[in-house]
Amino acid sequence: MLGPPGAGKGTQAKIVAEKFDLAHISTGDIFRDNIKRKTELGKQVVAIVDAGGLVPDELTVALVKDRLQKDDCKNGAVLDGFPRTADQADALTELLAELGSEIAIVPYIKVRDSEVVERLSGRRTDKQTGKIYHLKYNPPPQGADLEHRKDDQEDTIRDRLEEYHNKTAPLIAYYEQKGLLQEIDGEEQIDVVSATVLRKVEATRA
Ligand code: ADP
Ligand code: AMP
Repeated sequence: MLGPPGAGKGTQAKIVAEKFDLAHISTGDIFRDNIKRKTELGKQVVAIVDAGGLVPDELTVALVKDRLQKDDCKNGAVLDGFPRTADQADALTELLAELGSEIAIVPYIKVRDSEVVERLSGRRTDKQTGKIYHLKYNPPPQGADLEHRKDDQEDTIRDRLEEYHNKTAPLIAYYEQKGLLQEIDGEEQIDVVSATVLRKVEATRA
């Protein structure tokens, strides 16, 4: 899943993973879990993640390499928030070749920067289930135990967008050249976006 922060990658990745029985791998979720549990990795990355920077490629690639070899990836995986740099993308191609696998599709969820700020300011996640909500666009149930991410404050959102445009957006052309990119209008409602994403994923499996 490619797209700016707040495009809906996590929202759509969960839907695709459930529908096709794939693992959902969110590098952001893995980093946040390690930060919460105060692991060695968590301590290494907390300042970077809180500031909206990118964790070094070696660390991130090693983590994904490990994760992709777990049992639940046998049927495939939806990668959400990875790769985010050209070096990560190259490493992923190599890694998948080693594992005898390859990328089927790169859904690029396109959303304007102005919309990203609105989306992330209103994003809330359920502390127990990890479900993603939005105060206005996808309201949480009453009484849910919600979290507002530290990096979802306006200043940090601007920094994350800058990182995205500098380091991640070049991957759009990279995957287009490989014939893997499928651009999707991410400004439609959630169910409209997922219908399109599911249709495009389905087409690669026919
Ligand atoms: P990402 O994983 O790309 O950062 P999320 O899936 O966490 O994005 O979505 C960011 C926020 O936008 C969440 O609050 C989510 O509920 C909301 N959202 C996701 N998709 C849409 C959509 N199509 N329309 C409106 N809000 C959306
Ligand atoms: P996300 O949950 O995808 O918004 O990611 C949250 C934060 O985790 C990012 O702002 C980065 O600090 C870090 N992160 C997640 N994925 C990566 C990645 N592939 N490369 C580097 N840093 C990442």
